Amino acid sequence: MVVLSCDPNDLGSSLRLIEELTANAERVQQQVLDEILTRNADTEYLHGFLKGRASRELFRNAVPVVDYDHVKPYIDRLANGEPSRIISSQPILELLTSSGTSGGQPKMMPSTAEELDRKTFLYNLLIPVMNQYVTGLDEGKCMYLLFIKPEISTPSGLTARPVLTSYYKSSHFRNRPFNKFNVYTSPDEAILCSDSKQSMFCQLLCGLAQRDEVLRVGAVFASAFLRAIKFLEDHWPELCSNIRAGSVSSWITGAACRDSVNRVLARPNPELAAAIEAECSKQPWEAIVKRLWPRTKYVDVIVTGSMAQYIPLLEFYSGGLPLVSTMYASSECYFGINLRPLDLPSDVSYTLLPNMAYFEFIEVDRVTDADDAGGECNCTGDLKVVDLVDVEIGRYYEIVVTTFTGLYRYRVGDILMVTGFHHAAPQFRFVHRRNVVLSVDTDKTSEEDLLKAVTQAKLLLEPLGYLLTEYTSYADTSSIPGHYVLFWELKTRATSDDELSTADVQAVMENCCSTIESCLDAVYRRCRSRDRSIGPLEIRVVRGGAFDALMDYCVSQGSSVNQYKTPRCIKSREAIQLLEEKVAGRFFSRKLPFWEPYRMEIKAS
Ligand code: AMP
Repeated sequence: MVVLSCDPNDLGSSLRLIEELTANAERVQQQVLDEILTRNADTEYLHGFLKGRASRELFRNAVPVVDYDHVKPYIDRLANGEPSRIISSQPILELLTSSGTSGGQPKMMPSTAEELDRKTFLYNLLIPVMNQYVTGLDEGKCMYLLFIKPEISTPSGLTARPVLTSYYKSSHFRNRPFNKFNVYTSPDEAILCSDSKQSMFCQLLCGLAQRDEVLRVGAVFASAFLRAIKFLEDHWPELCSNIRAGSVSSWITGAACRDSVNRVLARPNPELAAAIEAECSKQPWEAIVKRLWPRTKYVDVIVTGSMAQYIPLLEFYSGGLPLVSTMYASSECYFGINLRPLDLPSDVSYTLLPNMAYFEFIEVDRVTDADDAGGECNCTGDLKVVDLVDVEIGRYYEIVVTTFTGLYRYRVGDILMVTGFHHAAPQFRFVHRRNVVLSVDTDKTSEEDLLKAVTQAKLLLEPLGYLLTEYTSYADTSSIPGHYVLFWELKTRATSDDELSTADVQAVMENCCSTIESCLDAVYRRCRSRDRSIGPLEIRVVRGGAFDALMDYCVSQGSSVNQYKTPRCIKSREAIQLLEEKVAGRFFSRKLPFWEPYRMEIKAS
């Protein structure tokens, strides 16, 4: 068992492997658990619970279900130079920085050499699955816009970086076996360019230069793809002039990247440049993806979970091309794939592959509130944990993983709903992330994070005689980049809303916006300050009574009057519109929040 491999050129045997794995999900899960326990029973972590016995039953009874706070001390010890065997019998080669945060900083997940093989296995299955639904994918190229992010070194010299950076830099990606289904327009040198602006420019340039060969376009998440469209909107004249000249702009200074792009451009091509210019100059940019890459069959981007908010904009730019979410994965481990990739985004389910890790599920109750897109999920008293094959259709669960890399019964924080089974393997719809109310890119802001930030900001109002009486929020993704919007209802000594436009109030409100940003976690501040994938935070001050009207609306939608609590995030269009009609002033943050790469501190032992 350990790591399965599949030949990406042999489509038939890859599909048979999926059938076998899913048909034998229970047995495969037991083998996975046995393997993990046999290898790791003597690690410091597991030994504390199992006393060296690799027993499945003991594992279920004695090893606790934990979250990151419990794991963090071990990760810190690894980062400070203690040996891998405190959690894993295999060497931990690097730490993967997740977009989830703990204490405001990215969580870090252990990773091993073998885990890269497991990821490669899952990636190799995507093509055979897609090929069943879309033919001719071997007759052209994919314009996948993929990026790396900076990495840091822990005090012990372990590298800490995002999971995809680790994968793209690995020999698994760079020496991927040639496969005519998987020819990229982006040279590896452009993907691996550490300057994100140069990387974006070069990848778009190569995609445009090979536009007639492109059969599919994509990025990992919808937000990244839309950012590329926005970049194209801002840079197409320069991109076209590069194509016309047959060489890349001089500000592309990364030598490897520059050479690789010049090789793609090869020669001056004024006809191609003129054709692209003609499309880009037409307004609006509706269906621009189809117009620029006319042979494109689908857009490969994740549009489930928090990315669903981007579907309308993606549909606008792509001109109705299918939006395909192929896989579900995380820094902890890769989970599964979408076996019906052409399903509508709202119907997408992921089939968990039972060989990737040992999966368990905490039953949760769905507590629906008046907000149609909202609804939290609560654990039911004592945690009830079930195995992968024992989940029930229609029920909600939080996923718990035991990985080959040293995480044992770890709560990932994702809430999933079972939609069906493929043979014996359950299929899940991604519902939402536990405790996340706002997300524009990879940021994940909880109600608590928001409350803390608002609590700081509202102090600034007091000298002016204003009091914050109510607030709520939503992620406005109607334009790119999206941004956080907070609706604030204030009690003022002033009698008219006009006072809100005085210079003093303007300055204070703008300060409130930047204070909130500076209080949000490191991932928000990184997206906002370094990646610029989140726009300036906005406070919309609403007239008195707006939140009473919101309550009336929620009650009319089924909320109980007695138990009504102002939702701290609203998603329904009607609720947003209702507050929008009562807006008296709009204020934006004028400062980028402070952000610097996370530094791990050496702690005295
Ligand atoms: P990270 O740990 O930063 O790699 O982020 C992993 C998280 O991204 C997962 O735990 C999910 O919350 C989210 N995610 C990953 N893939 C998907 C998907 N296909 N649909 C929805 N959310 C996803």
